[in-house]
Amino acid sequence: MKILVPVKRVVDYNVKIRIKSDQSGVEDSNVKMSLNPFDEIAIEEAVRLKEAGKASEIIVVTIGPEKAQDILRTAMAMGADRGVLVSTDLKIDLGGIEPLMVAKCLKALIENEKPDMVIMGKQAIDDDSNQTGQMLSALLGWPQATFASNIEIDNGQANVTREVDGGLETLKVALPAVVTTDLRLNEPRYASLPNIMKAKKKPLDNKQLSDFNIKLTPRLKLVSVEEPPKREGGEIVSNVDELLDKLKNEAKVI
Ligand code: AMP
Repeated sequence: MKILVPVKRVVDYNVKIRIKSDQSGVEDSNVKMSLNPFDEIAIEEAVRLKEAGKASEIIVVTIGPEKAQDILRTAMAMGADRGVLVSTDLKIDLGGIEPLMVAKCLKALIENEKPDMVIMGKQAIDDDSNQTGQMLSALLGWPQATFASNIEIDNGQANVTREVDGGLETLKVALPAVVTTDLRLNEPRYASLPNIMKAKKKPLDNKQLSDFNIKLTPRLKLVSVEEPPKREGGEIVSNVDELLDKLKNEAKVI
């Protein structure tokens, strides 16, 4: 079984986000970039399936700038077999490369690679769109199982447990299918130094987004990006009466 894992290069989750002064987006120059955390979980799951003898090949794919090959190498150091970089100078964010364009490009790659399963993050932590997996499955006409907290492969089918409001839901989907990962699916491994060295020699295919027959006109317009309002300082009150008085007369919430 061949597994394809789409991965996105995002601002590292430990970085304190700064908004550009013209409010046109998030500052990403001289900022640490990393693999989207949900995509690390997707790679880990694919590697575990390979280690369990259920998968034979793992291909990681990213659409992004030339520099995005760093995350493909990280994914290969974690255990993916080869990478595909679809380069573009277009900004990978709302108003630039939108989830629908990413999904269309992935569809074209998938028709060529013919994987049996796509495992991808439920959400990219930069745009928080949570759309690409769902759009991809619709474009391919494949079943989808989103927000997976457990995946079992059995007889050409995937049993996927999902965390829903009321508890856990288990879906059985026929392969090929698109599965998106939730936080509790697994804990991704750290790549060891020998594996980082080995990953440098794994095959990495370079393609251009402009070579795909995809309309690159944005459908979304980014109006502005703003910081959340600053939290005002708290106050310690000395007794319940004072608290009630403030809630009634200052905050006017009761
Ligand atoms: P989103 O719909 O933007 O929240 O992203 C959901 C998932 O789609 C991510 O976790 C990735 O697996 C995949 N994805 C999004 N953008 C890209 C990209 N530029 N290249 C490859 N995969 C992507």
